[in-house]
Amino acid sequence: MDILFVEDLRRVYAGGGNEITALDGLTAGFAAGTFTAVMGPSGSGKSTLLQCAAGLDRPTSGRVVIGGAELTATGEAAMTRFRRERVGFVFQDFNLMPALTVTQNVTLPLKLAGRKVDRRKVRDLLERLGLGDRLGHVPGELSGGQRQRVAIARALITEPEVVFADEPTGALDTRGAREVLELLRAAVRDFGRTVVMVTHDPVAAAYADAVLFLADGRIVGRMDRPTAERVAERLAHVADLAGPQRLTAAGAA
Ligand code: ADP
Repeated sequence: MDILFVEDLRRVYAGGGNEITALDGLTAGFAAGTFTAVMGPSGSGKSTLLQCAAGLDRPTSGRVVIGGAELTATGEAAMTRFRRERVGFVFQDFNLMPALTVTQNVTLPLKLAGRKVDRRKVRDLLERLGLGDRLGHVPGELSGGQRQRVAIARALITEPEVVFADEPTGALDTRGAREVLELLRAAVRDFGRTVVMVTHDPVAAAYADAVLFLADGRIVGRMDRPTAERVAERLAHVADLAGPQRLTAAGAA
């Protein structure tokens, strides 16, 4: 069963007299307990898809359904609650609160949602993510890889239905990136979470169960059990699939 379903999603940005169609009628389902990578050329709509699916942005039209509830049918207040309670988000630049300790950063979503903080559960999770000796540290005292692991703990602590990650390894060195990807995979395999990750890196995509390829705001391909080599090869062809609109834009740049 699909825990996340997006149907006929369109997101049109207006401004400066011309419209940009970031998502052009995109439909996709994501099964519970799977790890999906989303790839495609720059400007193909990957971030917009994630933002709309996570309730950080509203599509111009179309539906987002998470765990049987339609996110797109709700008002602003309900959307904020939905986001707090049912999804987790991991950003490229971590987005941690610099003045808060590791433990405080991770408990923040629970507090914002008015939920009880189970200190032992928080500590167990942080230990599991290799941060057991860092609980009282602030982000500035941690490496990039450690910061991203704190962000993953923060995304997992509410036991969300879907965890979205937008280029989570983009600011990390090879070792930090590998640790983060292994943790995301473990979140799926060991905790049964569902992860959707945008990446431009075929090696990162190979950690996922499947890869969706986007071009011009649509899905143009899918690969199950990806390997870095096969993903890199397919990506070269996805660039060819992008329409004349993109070629013109690239030519003008
Ligand atoms: P990707 O993540 O694949 O690089 P994005 O989803 O960021 O693609 O962007 C898709 C398209 O929408 C691009 O043409 C981009 O310039 C445009 N876009 C994204 N955000 C905005 C915005 N806030 N205002 C106007 N255009 C935007």
